[in-house]
Order: sequence, then structure tokens, then C-alpha cells
Amino acid sequence: MAKQEYGPVPPEVVSVSETLKKAGFEAYLVGGCVRDIVLGLRPQDWDFTTNAKPEDIIRIFPETFYENIYGTVGVVNKETADEKAKVVEVTPYRLESGYSDNRRPDAVVWSEKLDDDLQRRDFTINAIALDLEKKAGKQGYFDGTVVDPYGGIVDLHKKILRTVGDAHERFREDGLRILRAVRIGNSLGFEIERVTEKALAEESHLLGNISKERIRDEFTKMIMSDRPMEALKLCNKFHLLPYIIPELEKTISIEQGGAHAYDVWEHTLRTLQHAADQKWSLELRLASLLHDIGKPKARRQGTPGKKEWTFYGHEVVGARMAEKILTELRYPKAIIEKVTKLVRMHMFFSDSSVVTLSAVRRVIAKIGKDNIWDLMNLRACDRIGTGRPKADPYRLRKYHAMIDEALRDPVSVGMLKIDGKKIMEATGEIPGPKVGFVLHALLEEVLDDPKKNTEEYLNARAIVLVKLPERELRAMAEEGKKKKEAENEAELAEIRKSHRVS
Ligand code: ATP
Ligand code: MG
Repeated sequence: MAKQEYGPVPPEVVSVSETLKKAGFEAYLVGGCVRDIVLGLRPQDWDFTTNAKPEDIIRIFPETFYENIYGTVGVVNKETADEKAKVVEVTPYRLESGYSDNRRPDAVVWSEKLDDDLQRRDFTINAIALDLEKKAGKQGYFDGTVVDPYGGIVDLHKKILRTVGDAHERFREDGLRILRAVRIGNSLGFEIERVTEKALAEESHLLGNISKERIRDEFTKMIMSDRPMEALKLCNKFHLLPYIIPELEKTISIEQGGAHAYDVWEHTLRTLQHAADQKWSLELRLASLLHDIGKPKARRQGTPGKKEWTFYGHEVVGARMAEKILTELRYPKAIIEKVTKLVRMHMFFSDSSVVTLSAVRRVIAKIGKDNIWDLMNLRACDRIGTGRPKADPYRLRKYHAMIDEALRDPVSVGMLKIDGKKIMEATGEIPGPKVGFVLHALLEEVLDDPKKNTEEYLNARAIVLVKLPERELRAMAEEGKKKKEAENEAELAEIRKSHRVS
């Protein structure tokens, strides 16, 4: 193909190509980065393919790392400020043979030919190689030539996603490609070509052979895209949900009645889409997706004969389900904990005119200072997902002011002007659960009245408290939980009223 200008490409990336060529090897940019450059998008990462072997690559670059079975060597650019150019991946031309388990090649063989490497790739638009020259054109652009044996460039222009070679065969080799087709096609706004789409629908069961980790990584990219609502609708259309989050399927057609125009599924997708429209974090998007996952199980008939339903405790059921779902997908513990908390707490605060400052402090104590704004954002998504407009700005400002104020007060035992050690010094108590109960009982008092957070007051109170029987003390320490439940009940009453269900 004719020479043309491509870019922008960071100079660090071009210099990786230069270094490989100076050492006598071929070097092509390949995969998502070429696809994105041609489309005028910013690539997520930079990948080269080359006839150099891993040991050659390691030898010719000053800093590299190599820790996988596919021959990919990470070339490190320490100096650069460009996050995406810090590590450039360089992989030898590869041939794959035999996929007896529908997910992994039986053998990975290095090859001398670029064509071998392009032919093993999933989609035509991902199988374009780009040879860059050192000669720079206009800012950040370089002369280059593409190698495009499967018509990827034409498909890019036509906005079509199609497999390289026989679609059935390619999905049978690696079932993950089914999810990739939906994810990549949807995030680019492309049509899936007819034959590819038919094969994909027929082979969806192959996703059952794929490891949860690989599914999680594609699924994460899917919900981090700009169009997660559409992506999940496609997953449903092609019956992929059972292999990702089977519980989501159960939300389809679960009517809610009352103020809800949508079933739980549609409401969930709209909630998630709002989180994406706001460019919010993975945790918030997962919480948006899972916040009502407990509703199908918690739904009860309200007024008999009418389309009225109650969902008491769905956030408690849902939090447990969210934890299980995310654990099965092998998300990191920190993500699971945060999302579970957000789901558990998403029903708090209904009306700023009835919420007290101490109630706000208790919510912060439970969700954690770092998560309180995410909880507010989740509530915004939830509201928009119901089809209602944004919250009244006055009420929202009032909430925010209350949170800001409550955040200045102590909301955890760590923020008390006393600790376990000081309690033991003041009371002569030995280490044990009792000290913890005293601390929590003190926190309860301070949550009600932050002015009590002084050394004098807390020391004096500790001396009184420690004399109480352990049972009584434990009850005091757990007082907060009861109050939270009572507040929870009051909240639910409000919600019932506003949804006109009893
Ligand atoms: P993104 O820009 O979202 O990262 P990508 O296409 O670059 O998308 P990667 O997972 O980074 O996706 O893969 C890089 C390239 O490796 C792909 O473009 C494709 O050529 C090839 N590839 C990745 N996964 C597969 C697969 N399962 N089967 C065949 N080829 C694959
Ligand atoms: Mg990529």
C-alpha cells in the first residue's frame, strides 16, 4: 500500500521501532493502536509485532520485563511523561495451532512472517500492521505504510466488524472473541457483519469454557466504554449474560410499579449509562449496575390486584449478591468491598429536610469518608435511571453542605481524642474486647454530639463505662447499628409514601 502520514504517535514509540530496525529486525505497530490511529482516536496502548525473538528484544533495549507465555516483552520508557508510552509491548510474530479447549492455543510457535501473525488475530480491523518511518511529517505524524491482507482499512471506513477468516472457526478457537466482538464493535459504534453475527449468536455457549479472569477483563472494558447500556443490551440479545453475570438476566421484566416507569433491567442499564456519561469510576459503574440486583428476590406484592410492589431489604440482599458476583469474577478485594458497601447503602438519605446531621455522620461512619461522595453520585445515577430529572439544585446543595459539615466531625474511632492505649492507662483495664466496646460506645456519643470529642470528657466517660457489665457495654457499642436500622425504617417509610405503596 502507498505511503501516507499516520499519527499522532509519541516519539518514544517511534524510537522503539527505530531501535528494532537498527538491530536488523522488522517492526510493525499492530492491533488496537493501528485501528484507533486510522479512526482518529487516541490509542489505549502501543503494541509492536516483530521477527525478533524475546531474547533479542531483551538484549537490544536497556530496560524490559518479560513474564508471560506469549513472548510479549514490555519495553520500558522511564523518562517519558506520557503514561501510555511508559511501557510499549513488543511481541514476536506468532503462529497458533490447535485450540482443543476453545480458549487457548495448544502451542505457540514463533514465526518469521508477518502474515502468520496477522492471520491469528481476531477481527479484520485488528489485523492491520503499520510500518512507521523515522521521517516526521507535521506535528507528531510520521510517514508509514500499512500491511492489510484482510481488508481491515475498508472495514474501518465502512464501520464493520468482521472476523479474520471463518467466523465459526475463529470463535471455536477462542470463545472470548464472542465477547470481544460485542465489546469492540459497540464501543466503536460499528455494525457486526452478518455472517460474524450469526456465528456469534450460535456459538455463545463457548463462553462457558472461558476463565472468569478473561471474561472480567473484557467485561470491565465494556462497562468502562462510553456505551455500556448498549453493550449489555447486545449481551442480552446474544445470550451472553449467563456467562458474565447470570443474576442480571433475572432483572428483565421485573416490573416495579409506583414511580418507576421501567422494569429493573432497563432502570439498571440507565443508571449505569449515567455513570458512564459522567465518566465515573469502575467501582461506581459496578455499583450502578448492581445496586438493584436484589430486587427480583426481594419483590413482594403491594396492594393485591394492582401493579404495586415492595422491595424491602433489597439493598441488603443485593449487597450480598454483589459480593458473590464480583468474587466469582475475581475482582480485587478492594473493589469488591467498596461496591458492596455502596450497594448496601444506596437507600440512605431520602429527604434533606428530615435528615439530621447526626444521621449524616452515621452514614459517613458506615460507608467511610472516602466513599461518601461516590454514594451521593450513585444516588444521582439511580435517580436519572428512573427517568426523573436531576435533583433539585437547592436540595442537592443542602445535602452537600451537610456532608461537608459532618466530614469535619469525628466519624470513626480513629478520629476520637482517645485510643485503646489511653483507655487502658486511664482505667487499668487489660487488653481485650472490652476496650473495643468502650471505644465504640464513646464514638456513639460523639456521633450524636461532636463537642464531646475532648480528652477530658472521653477519659472521664471511659472510667465510668469500663465499670459496666460487658453485656451492657456491648449493647451500647452496638447502639449505632440499631439507630441506623431505625433510621433505615424511617427512610423506607418515606420511600413507601413517595412511591404510594404501603
Ligand atoms: P483495546 O484498544 O480496547 O485495548 P485491542 O484490540 O487493542 O483493544 P487488546 O486486548 O489490547 O485489544 O489486544 C491487542 C490485539 O491483539 C488485538 O487488536 C488483536 O489483534 C489481538 N488479540 C487480542 N485478543 C485476541 C484474541 N482473543 N484472539 C485473537 N486476537 C486477539
Ligand atoms: Mg489494546
